[in-house]
Amino acid sequence: MSEYDNAPKSRVTSVLQELGLVSPAEQPDGSTVSTTSVPPTIQTFSPSARLVGSCKCGRVNYSVTGAPKRIGLCHCTDCRQESGSAFTYFAVWPASAFETTGETAIHLGRQFCPQCGSRLFSANDDEAEIKLGTLKDAPTGLRPTYELWIKRREAWLSPISGAEQFDEDHVAKSASA
Ligand SMILES: [Zn+2]
Ligand SMILES: [Zn+2]
Repeated sequence: MSEYDNAPKSRVTSVLQELGLVSPAEQPDGSTVSTTSVPPTIQTFSPSARLVGSCKCGRVNYSVTGAPKRIGLCHCTDCRQESGSAFTYFAVWPASAFETTGETAIHLGRQFCPQCGSRLFSANDDEAEIKLGTLKDAPTGLRPTYELWIKRREAWLSPISGAEQFDEDHVAKSASA
C-alpha cells in the first residue's frame, strides 16, 4: 500500500508537483489557473525528486534521484520473452542516481529478484535502466520519449505521440553510420 493512499488529495497533488509530475492547474474552488498545459517531461523533473521501487516480495528495494536521461518502450523479442508481456517500459538514470539494497540474480545483464522473480533493472558503472512497473507509485507519470523495435509492436498498440520511433535499436547519433 502506498503511503499516499490515505493522504488528502491536495497533499498527493503537491507531492506530485514537487516531483514535477503534474502541473498546478486546478484550484480548490474548481477554477483553473491559466497555464500552458505542458505534459510532464524529463525537463520538468526536480533534481531532488526521488522515486522508490521494489520487487513484489520486497526483498529488493531501490531508488533513483533526479531526472531520467531517457524514457522508453521496447517491443523487441528479448524484452517480450523476458517480461512475459508485449513490451517493456523503462527509464535510464545515471549510475550515480541509483541505489539498491537486497540481493538480485542476473541473467545477461538483467537483474531480478531470485525469490519472487520480479524483473527490476540492468545496472552498470555508467547507467541504471529501471523497469518502471516496479516503481512504488502508479501511475508514474513518466512519459516515454522513444520507442524501440516498433516493427515488433502489436497492431492494436498506437505509437506514443511525441515519442521518437525506431524500427530496431536506437543507434546513438554520435556513432558512425
Ligand atoms: Zn522479490
Ligand atoms: Zn527490447
